[in-house]
Amino acid sequence: ENKQRLQKLIANAGVTSRRKAEKLIVNGQVRVNGEIVKELGSKFTVHDRIEVNGVPLERDPKIYILFYKPRGVISSVHDEKNRKVVTDYFTDIIEARIYPVGRLDYDTSGLLLLTNDGDLTNHLLHPRNQINKVYVAKVNGVIQSAALEQLRHGVKVNGKKTAAAKAELISVDQKKKTSIVKLTIHEGMNHQVKQMFQQVGAQVIKLKREQIGFLTLKGLTSGDWRFLKREEIKALK
Ligand code: URA
Repeated sequence: ENKQRLQKLIANAGVTSRRKAEKLIVNGQVRVNGEIVKELGSKFTVHDRIEVNGVPLERDPKIYILFYKPRGVISSVHDEKNRKVVTDYFTDIIEARIYPVGRLDYDTSGLLLLTNDGDLTNHLLHPRNQINKVYVAKVNGVIQSAALEQLRHGVKVNGKKTAAAKAELISVDQKKKTSIVKLTIHEGMNHQVKQMFQQVGAQVIKLKREQIGFLTLKGLTSGDWRFLKREEIKALK
């Protein structure tokens, strides 16, 4: 049976990072089959009964990560051109195979969820569930209120009309002739935000996703991530 280091088994269960798991072990907060284990090199299997602060690890743990994707990273587990992919951030930390929930473009930054929970992925991506995604776009040109109205009512993207959206003008740079617009949509068509702006005559020059449902990037900077909290996972389902 596949033996692994204790800190890795704990990290893989989504309890905490491997570094923090090491601390828990050294502090005597981890029991295996009833005995406290303080040795960092100790190896066990998923069939051993591991408890952290008296709470047993789950079998076949589900992992939920909230990631602040930087620009210049591919939202995939592999890239043919060998560019950096989002899962590169987790290979040393999490053994389970995790996948991004939907995609952000290579040049888009912001909130991306990663998980091995296929049911939650489907739930979050299905337009029927109307989970809001909030984007902040910097676009070329001074955007007019008529364009904002069009975005709100829906425009044609790939031959389909987009659902009603929220579009809020945040600021305009009169000198540089650019605008910042906050757009809230719940569908996930390919390059939807860029295409929507294109349909109203504006070109997106910078795009960031700030929110999915109630989840925000609060407390994180580009490249950071955290596990979702138990209550957050429950509330998403
Ligand atoms: N819409 C886009 O055009 N790009 C993204 O990355 C996300 C939404």
